[in-house]
Amino acid sequence: MQDKEKFMMEALKEAKKAYNKEEIPVGAVIVRDGKIIARGHNLKETDNRATHHAEIMAINKASRRINNWRLIDCEMYVTLEPCTMCMGAIVASRIKKAYIGAMDELGGACGSVLNVLDYKFNHKVEVETGILKEECEYILKDFFKMLRDKKRRSKMKIAEIFDKKSIHTYIIIAVLVISISIAGLLMLKYQVEGEKNLPFNVTQISVISTAKGIHNRGEDNQWSTVLSQKNDIYFKIEKNSEYKKEAIIKKIIFNNFEITKESELGEIGIYRPSQKDCEYNYEEETIIKDSLEYSGGQFTDTEILEINNQGGVIGFSILNRNVGECTFSENEVIPSDGKLLKLANVELKEIKIKISFDMIIETEDGKKFRASIIFELPEESILEDGVSKQEIGLSDIVFKRF
Ligand SMILES: [Zn+2]
Repeated sequence: MQDKEKFMMEALKEAKKAYNKEEIPVGAVIVRDGKIIARGHNLKETDNRATHHAEIMAINKASRRINNWRLIDCEMYVTLEPCTMCMGAIVASRIKKAYIGAMDELGGACGSVLNVLDYKFNHKVEVETGILKEECEYILKDFFKMLRDKKRRSKMKIAEIFDKKSIHTYIIIAVLVISISIAGLLMLKYQVEGEKNLPFNVTQISVISTAKGIHNRGEDNQWSTVLSQKNDIYFKIEKNSEYKKEAIIKKIIFNNFEITKESELGEIGIYRPSQKDCEYNYEEETIIKDSLEYSGGQFTDTEILEINNQGGVIGFSILNRNVGECTFSENEVIPSDGKLLKLANVELKEIKIKISFDMIIETEDGKKFRASIIFELPEESILEDGVSKQEIGLSDIVFKRF
């Protein structure tokens, strides 16, 4: 083996080091006086530096080794035709001769893409190509084949994941993901549309509005009457026939009462029933402070605030005191209802109120459903007919679990 082949073999050893680091396998050695003074291999990827080509690495090491940037009398053996940068460095470092293995059609600067030797630099480098050409070509071809195989293997791995055995796992995961997404959408829909599977429904809300007077005998055999306008509100609660499981009412709660009225007239109070069947005595002890609670029991008994645990009719009343006054002579027939309002010249807008409150249905199994309910009362017919009966629309009442 000639010397130049021996040194090119050493350059190939460097190329192999690059290969093992998954770098494009290019290696170089620098020889002076028949001895290798520096070695280098491509480290572009490892160091993340565009300039870390084998030739540059070797030149830098050689300069350090001999403590001189001038590599006069030095020869370089490089497995691949140097690029323009490396040829520039070879010229700049005054290397005497470069021995090249394989040619680089895509980047070589010794005849492949251009030829640096054609230009008149003040230092002339000698170049000899084709040293162990096949070996130098082989290591490159082998490297690129290895890369392609690796790519193919990773593709195959992906294919293996989806083979017959594991496809079941992926179907299960897909089904789970889809189910969770659907559940999420349903939750969202439920937040907007409310609970569909409510164990109990409010099937009717009725308001019966009328007025009553308190009569005081005045002078000259006259009766003086002070008027209050009252609104009894009834809630009919029934088990939802669509709800297949057993359901037991634990509590029905009304709270967050808010009443707004435009007129200054009257004083509003909300009362719970004091007797069975939603009968009211408007007394201080039956006034609702902030919430009204019916507990589930055997019977519906509004006197003791109990509702049959499968449903029933419960309610409360709103009394608007002192909304008017009128006088009657002894022989006059005094009406006992809302007609009194007309006689006292009370207008509907003066007694119109807006009520809002929350209704909560709590079941024995710990589920709680809440709806916000809002409506206005009383209706016009209270003045002419004495009594108005109003049915509250249920379509806007949406129960949500909380
Ligand atoms: Zn280069």
